Amino acid sequence: MNSLFRDATSPGDGDRRRGRDGDRNRRAARPSRPRIDPGDPEYGRLAALDDTELGARMLAVTPTHDHRDPALLRRWAETADRFGAELAPGPAAGGRAVPAPALPRVVERTGGLDPDRLLLARYTSRPAAVELYTDTIAFAEALVSRLGWRHWYPRGSVRRAALAHEELHCRLHHGPRKAALKAALGHTALRIGPVRVAGHVAGADEIAAHAYARAAGGLGRSPLLLTAALAHAVTAAARPATGTTREN
Ligand SMILES: [Zn+2]
Repeated sequence: MNSLFRDATSPGDGDRRRGRDGDRNRRAARPSRPRIDPGDPEYGRLAALDDTELGARMLAVTPTHDHRDPALLRRWAETADRFGAELAPGPAAGGRAVPAPALPRVVERTGGLDPDRLLLARYTSRPAAVELYTDTIAFAEALVSRLGWRHWYPRGSVRRAALAHEELHCRLHHGPRKAALKAALGHTALRIGPVRVAGHVAGADEIAAHAYARAAGGLGRSPLLLTAALAHAVTAAARPATGTTREN
């Protein structure tokens, strides 16, 4: 399960995008909005996992963590979740305080609903901007309605959650909190005699950003659940239905 929120500072992203855009143009028959099957039991299975477990599973599919003890991943997920939630404005803000001054320019785009490159929002550091994929946001809102998840994600909360998520990335990128998250996780990468070198836990910032968005928006569940459901909806819709043929 991967996050749909990407930090575009990762190397090679631009090249990958250019290649995929070309592929997308050749695949002409893909519907712009995937069909939603609310009876698909996978949604119930995902919702039955608590936010910590969803976080632990996200870490487990992160390449550097594939050999790690599930109990450790759960502990890291819990720590990152608490760290992100504690940075959010208090419940009094009621989600309205989310677009904080820390956010750079917001650019709206479409083209997020590609099963190979599903995107809801991303933060780019050069130039400093947050890209919001409005087609994915609209689809996520439709998914929430169809699945009966409005009590967790009120109408309009997906966009606010996406902005809050990127806001935390922005804060972690520029301030001392990145080091604070690392310290809270307590992962020792290297020990030389009495000297302990704190290690980076890949994916922990994602969990923190989702928890921040949940707390800032007063959501019932972490947006991590919604991103997992979205990824499932889009990949399930991209698979050819049984008994039908699809022309290439
Ligand atoms: Zn993110």
